[in-house]
Amino acid sequence: MSDTQTRSRAPEPKPWIEAIQAYVPGKSTGADGKPLIKLSANENPLGTSPLALAARAQGPALYPDPDSKALRAKLGELHGIDPALIVMGTGSDELLNLAAQGYAGPGDEVIYVRYGFSVYDIAARRCGATPVVAPDADYGTDVDALLALVTERTRVVFIANPNNPTGSFLPKGEITRLHAGLPADVLLVLDLAYAEYVAAEDDDGAMALAAAHENVLVTRTFSKAYGLAGERIGWATGAPGLVATLNRIRGPFNVPSTGQAMALAALDDTGFIEAARTHNRDERARFVNAIESLGNHGLRAVPSEANFVLVLFEGALTAEAAFDGLAERGYIVRWLPGQGLPQALRFTIGKAHDMDAIVAGLQEMAGGHR
Ligand SMILES: *Cc1c(COP(=O)(O)O)cnc(C)c1O
Repeated sequence: MSDTQTRSRAPEPKPWIEAIQAYVPGKSTGADGKPLIKLSANENPLGTSPLALAARAQGPALYPDPDSKALRAKLGELHGIDPALIVMGTGSDELLNLAAQGYAGPGDEVIYVRYGFSVYDIAARRCGATPVVAPDADYGTDVDALLALVTERTRVVFIANPNNPTGSFLPKGEITRLHAGLPADVLLVLDLAYAEYVAAEDDDGAMALAAAHENVLVTRTFSKAYGLAGERIGWATGAPGLVATLNRIRGPFNVPSTGQAMALAALDDTGFIEAARTHNRDERARFVNAIESLGNHGLRAVPSEANFVLVLFEGALTAEAAFDGLAERGYIVRWLPGQGLPQALRFTIGKAHDMDAIVAGLQEMAGGHR
């Protein structure tokens, strides 16, 4: 080699990879390493369906079904979708990344909202595309602000509905308007990780849009309401061309056997999902009421359709102090200064007695006690 002089001493990552801030997962221990009750990752406080737990035993020596056939068939039946239009992922995270990678690259733009899911930023940068951040409207998604950022370089738009970490929700009319405002060659990814928690009458029309248009991909997951976060099972549906792209680049055995079997069984346990929804609706309402009663101390809950609530601390008690005080009381919630939200904490809706303890702790702290 003639150019050894000018070469690096070690492999150099691509500059767009070096610019990535790695995903920060919700923690389960305090600063001292002591285990805490975890309300920081939007997991299901009711755990996992007993039917899914019973389906766990599998032969680990064999590769899983690469096409998750049984699971896709069941999902298709449940949602009225041709199973050929369903692609499974190692969590929906994998599918979000593949959507960006399949349709965007260096020189292209990927749009998502400020206070959006941090995986979108990673997904955009991973493929070398330029992230473009749309301003929010009081922590909610502002369709007009987002559409104003569309250029001829825009390739992908990510929207979570409900959104994480804000919990905010775009009704059907707004989702329709957003889609109608996008050029046909822009891929709209609608991330429905929390769809199971949305009341049926509030359907945002995302699934119907994905069925009717070439440029809409919906992603779903078993990680939240289904209580299977540890098994890493997500799925996506959209037009044949979109599904073909994702199938071309996904990992060949991307959903382990155990996860496939557990997800299949979980779909049969409609009672478990119903219980999770009811628990969440009731406990979320109770928590939001309690936060409202602390309004004179500057606490404010962003309206949520999900299984968590973002609370703003705009008075003497800061989000950081509340985070520390709750950790002292045995609870870990999500503080998000890295996402531009040093003034807020995100609370996953947990068991009733845990929510009571959290509210009691906030009341004490807001009242000037440690
Ligand atoms: C939790 C979450 C997901 C789910 O990720 P998985 O990889 O399926 O566990 C996707 N999108 C959003 C907005 C989330 O909050």
